[in-house]
Amino acid sequence: MYEVEHWINGQRVKGASGRFADVYNPATGEVQGKVSLASPAELDAAVNKAAAAQADWARVNPQRRARVMMKFAQLIERDMDKLAETLSREHGKTLPDAKGDIQRGLEVVEVCMGAPHMLKGEYTDSGGPGIDLYSMRQPLGVVAGITPFNFPAMIPLWKLAPAISAGNAMVLKPSERTPSTSVMLAELLQEAGLPDGVLQVVHGDKEAVDAILDNDVVQAVGFVGSTPIAQYIYGRAAANGKRAQCFGGAKNHMIIMPDADMEKAADALVGAGYGAAGERCMAISVAVPVGHETADRLVELLVPRIEKLKVGPYTAGDDLDYGPLITGQAMERVKGLISSGVDQGATLVTDGRDFKLQGYENGFFVGPTLFDNVTPEMDIYREEIFGPVLSQVRAASYEDALGLVMDNDYGNGTAIFTADGDTARDFASRVNVGMVGINFPIPVPLSYHTFGGWKKSAFGDLNQYGPDAFRFYTRTKTVTSRWFSHVKEGGEFHFKAMD
Ligand code: NAD
Repeated sequence: MYEVEHWINGQRVKGASGRFADVYNPATGEVQGKVSLASPAELDAAVNKAAAAQADWARVNPQRRARVMMKFAQLIERDMDKLAETLSREHGKTLPDAKGDIQRGLEVVEVCMGAPHMLKGEYTDSGGPGIDLYSMRQPLGVVAGITPFNFPAMIPLWKLAPAISAGNAMVLKPSERTPSTSVMLAELLQEAGLPDGVLQVVHGDKEAVDAILDNDVVQAVGFVGSTPIAQYIYGRAAANGKRAQCFGGAKNHMIIMPDADMEKAADALVGAGYGAAGERCMAISVAVPVGHETADRLVELLVPRIEKLKVGPYTAGDDLDYGPLITGQAMERVKGLISSGVDQGATLVTDGRDFKLQGYENGFFVGPTLFDNVTPEMDIYREEIFGPVLSQVRAASYEDALGLVMDNDYGNGTAIFTADGDTARDFASRVNVGMVGINFPIPVPLSYHTFGGWKKSAFGDLNQYGPDAFRFYTRTKTVTSRWFSHVKEGGEFHFKAMD
């Protein structure tokens, strides 16, 4: 049993609230640690210390702040194995997937090495007689990041790297289910030269989150998690006058046209549907083949691939395909949804409910599950399952398939597999979803673009990482200056000849 402590002013600090949450090893089902849950008073104290540190940090020139990011990137690479091991032990994902989680965060740190460029302002020379205008981007002060369990390195890095390199201090409230990675990252940032107090990691649950939302010093909240909580946080943060960007859940569809390369589409679906046990906001959870022949062929190709999937603990080796779900509660919820699909008339092609692994009988595993003939009224279609369950909804035409995606409440990611450029262009142009893949199942944009969904997958303005993150974590000040003339005319600017 270990205890995960807060990271305050450059030190691990024991919680004072007396409240803890269990941290599970999802593969064995055992409680392996406990994490302190901060009280509002502890949260407020961390914010005040962050505010004190931020004033000096904002005065450090952007290039020096960027150098901290450069060093930080090197240290993340140095400790990649250690970080991945910690991450997998609390989350359950495979080690190669944990390294991918860290890598996609590291890439955002790399972009933040360009902070001086991102923070450059605008300038208008001679906007009027003797008048120049310039705009500068200044940090907000203390900002908060509230992050989900499913990417314990990537999403904290998406939040903290742009915020800090823009000159803010951040109070990070990571998921209480996967809390350790954030503290390790904070230690690496200290080693990279970040002054103490600029990053505070405060663990907690709703109590700590509400304290963030009600704290007057906190200027902005970057949240990632489920849609109901995203909407709640957006509303309360905005009511309290804070900037908020809150990214929520998803139900990502992949359309498979009759002309698609079916083998590649099936490979893509298996990876995007079952990777990380389906606990990804960019997982494909709905396959939409167009035409019955396409649908039949797809099932025929999916089944043998699904049967070959290797499910187990992260310690089982790098050829493992996916691990357990995050908690016993999540496992029971997913199994319940699978049963509801059966009850509501979907065809259960492969059933993961009875999956058992010798030696890991108490682990939170669900086997890969495939449904066919799913319809939009069913719970398995309406809810974000967040488990290894792929639903096939048959569409009669491209327009029907597109309509299904358009009518869905969520709009995080979507994909189309086709051999026809015109269909792909039409889809990319018309679909009301934030991130689109063409023959690409999980279109998470690279770190110098930006990440964000539409509809109920995101509340607020501006995307995560890339240039948008620097806009979110800074505010614009515009200076109009006029210098009166006739001063220089009065001076003498030529060498006087000696008399
Ligand atoms: P969650 O909403 O349960 O928790 C997210 C964060 O909110 C955690 O830090 C948690 O402590 C806090 N929280 C939970 N309940 C709260 C409450 N009642 N009041 C205040 N704070 C609360 O989400 P999760 O289960 O950790 O993560 C999975 C969800 O995140 C999925 O819905 C997934 O789609 C989504 N997600 C979205 C993105 C994206 O970028 N859109 C990325 C990753 C995950």
